[in-house]
Amino acid sequence: LFEVIEGKAKILVPKAESIYDSPVFYNPRMALNRDVVVLLLKVLKPKIVLDALSATGIRGIRFALETPAEEIWLNDISMEAYELMKRNVTLNFPGELKEGENRAFLEGEKRIVINNNDANRLMAEKHRYFHFIDLDPFGSPMEFLDTALRSVKRKGILGVTATDGAPLCGAHPKACLRKYLAVPLRGELCHEVGTRILVGVIARYAAKYDLGIEVLLAYYKDHYFRAFVRLRDGAKKGDESLENLGYIYFDEKTGKFEIERGFLPTRPNAYGPVWLGPLKNEDVVEEMFKLVKSGVELAKPREALKLLHMLHEELDVPLFYDTHAIGKRIKIETKKLGEIIKALQEKGYKATRTHFSPTGIKTDAPYEVFVDVMRKL
Ligand code: SAM
Repeated sequence: LFEVIEGKAKILVPKAESIYDSPVFYNPRMALNRDVVVLLLKVLKPKIVLDALSATGIRGIRFALETPAEEIWLNDISMEAYELMKRNVTLNFPGELKEGENRAFLEGEKRIVINNNDANRLMAEKHRYFHFIDLDPFGSPMEFLDTALRSVKRKGILGVTATDGAPLCGAHPKACLRKYLAVPLRGELCHEVGTRILVGVIARYAAKYDLGIEVLLAYYKDHYFRAFVRLRDGAKKGDESLENLGYIYFDEKTGKFEIERGFLPTRPNAYGPVWLGPLKNEDVVEEMFKLVKSGVELAKPREALKLLHMLHEELDVPLFYDTHAIGKRIKIETKKLGEIIKALQEKGYKATRTHFSPTGIKTDAPYEVFVDVMRKL
């Protein structure tokens, strides 16, 4: 074992050739993912939180050390992970661990509950108990989604990470159909479409419990998809949230896309269903951005600042034009992003960069206007 410091936490991590050989998983490159959820919890202040798939416990320990959460639950099905979580909790919090069956408690200023259980079983036992649940599995979160939607309170918050880029990005379309019940779109828009497929399936799963969703923040970064949603209680909210579902039509030759709201597509060759509603709550993201700017202690403060700045500025409309990909598709030279954005703005349109692609522009301008601007520059 060796010691790692991340944010305010100090944890022991097994020595291994690669992170995937390790008996207990720890990926230092996910520190930014954990920074972002810490920021969200600092802004929204949920009291009872669950890190359902904890591994070393780093995430839950950071919730306990860095956010206002009062009762923090950690859990992993692996016995090795459970043993390590207990060590890591006591490394960060003085006090005596009390052991129950497959469970250990630390009662202090913060109550920490460490579990050795199947996440689905634990969440099924704790019905409508948590204010916030974070799902951070290997690959797809889908096997845990339904139970999580029942274990979180009816106005609670759910955080989901998906690292299975191949299905969500359309490299394995059948896997996307099986897991997410949606047809993915390959190519330059795949990261955003994947994000919207993930949010869309959360909305569909939530609806049967008469729950709607509000997206607090959904983004793509370093090969993973991330979504934070707040549940909205009631059949009407469920109906409203389903109204944000729809489909995408995409022309391979030109890179032009169209979106269509509705539970069913009206034309062939539709991609989706996807979530076409907002991907952020402006106020929440602004508060998170302010916190990073104020210099709050994080593991990756500079990366977090860059990401939150981008997410804060980004125009929140479905999809974007990728200057490189469209340039190639219709054989015109790509111009500087900044110049195209400026030209669109001068014409009275909104336009910003997008975190989904370094060469993408989000705008409310129609495709023809965008291409015209690229041609004339
Ligand atoms: N959240 C951790 C972090 O931020 O470092 C990483 C979690 S790791 C990607 C996924 C973990 O889920 C593994 O430690 C694995 O043992 C655990 N796991 C897999 N299936 C599980 C299940 N059904 N119930 C509980 N834990 C499970």
